Amino acid sequence: MTRTALVTGAARGIGLATVKLFLRDGLHVIMVDNDEDALSQAAADLENVTTLPCDVSDAEAVATLAAGVDRVDALVNNAGLADFGPIEETTFDRWRRVMATNLDGVFLMTQAFTPHLKDTKGAIVNIASISALRASTLRVAYGTSKAGVAHLTQQQAVELGEYGIRANCVCPGPVRTKLAMAVHTQDIIDAYHDAIPLNRYGQEVEIAEAIVWLCSSKASFVTGQRLAVDGGFESTGIGLPSLRA
Ligand code: NAD
Repeated sequence: MTRTALVTGAARGIGLATVKLFLRDGLHVIMVDNDEDALSQAAADLENVTTLPCDVSDAEAVATLAAGVDRVDALVNNAGLADFGPIEETTFDRWRRVMATNLDGVFLMTQAFTPHLKDTKGAIVNIASISALRASTLRVAYGTSKAGVAHLTQQQAVELGEYGIRANCVCPGPVRTKLAMAVHTQDIIDAYHDAIPLNRYGQEVEIAEAIVWLCSSKASFVTGQRLAVDGGFESTGIGLPSLRA
C-alpha cells in the first residue's frame, strides 16, 4: 500500500516544499488549501497528488474532507496566517481570525483524521513558529496561537501515543514566503539577520526536510517534541551582532 501524506496549506511556501519532498520519497500526497486557484496551479505539474480544497478552520468542511479520504500515514498541519499588531490595535476579530486557522485548524484536522492515523500508526507534524517559543512585540495573536500549537502537540503526543501515533511540532525561524513578506519590513529583516547565528533567513526546503524526517520511520521513537528549525535563533539570548562583528 502506498503511504499517503496529507499537507494543509499546500498551495505554496513551506507546505508546497513539503509536498515535493514527500513525492521525492515516493508517497502519495493529498494537498489541502483554502485557495482553490493557487492549489490547482501548484498541483498542475505534480504527479501522484490529489487536491482537496478546504478551509481548515471550518469544522463541517473538515469533517466532510475526512469522510472522503481513505488513508493517511502522515498529517502535516501547516496552514497558517500571520497578523502582526500591537495589543491595543488587535481587535477581537483579528485575534479570532488568527486563532481560527492557526490553532482551531490544527485541533479540528487532527481530531478528524485520528481514525485514519490509528489505522496506519501514523505521524502528525504541526507547524508552529519560533514565535511559539519566544515572545516578541506585535505577535499577541500570532505568537499565542503558535504557543497553543506547541502545547497542543504535546497533548496529542501524550493522548494518541497509545495508538502508536506520534505527534511533533516544527518551529520555523523566518523564511521568505508570502506570509512572512506580508509582515516583515526591511527593519525586521535586518533585525532577524542580526539575531540569528547563521545570519540569514531559512529556505522552504530546509523546513520541509525536518517535517518529512519527523514523519518518517527514521523518527520512530520521537514524539512530543518541538524542533526549532531556525538558524540558531532560539539559542540566542539577545543577538549581540556587535560582538559577532
Ligand atoms: P504561505 O502564506 O506561503 O502559505 C500558507 C498557506 O496556507 C497558503 O497557501 C494559504 O492559502 C493556506 N491557508 C491559510 N489559511 C488557510 C485555511 N484556513 N485553510 C486552508 N489553507 C489555508 O505561508 P508559509 O510561510 O509557507 O507558512 C506555512 C506555515 O509556517 C504557517 O503555519 C506559518 O505560520 C508557519 N511559519 C512560517 C514562517 C515564515 O517565516 N514563513 C515562520 C514560522 C512559521
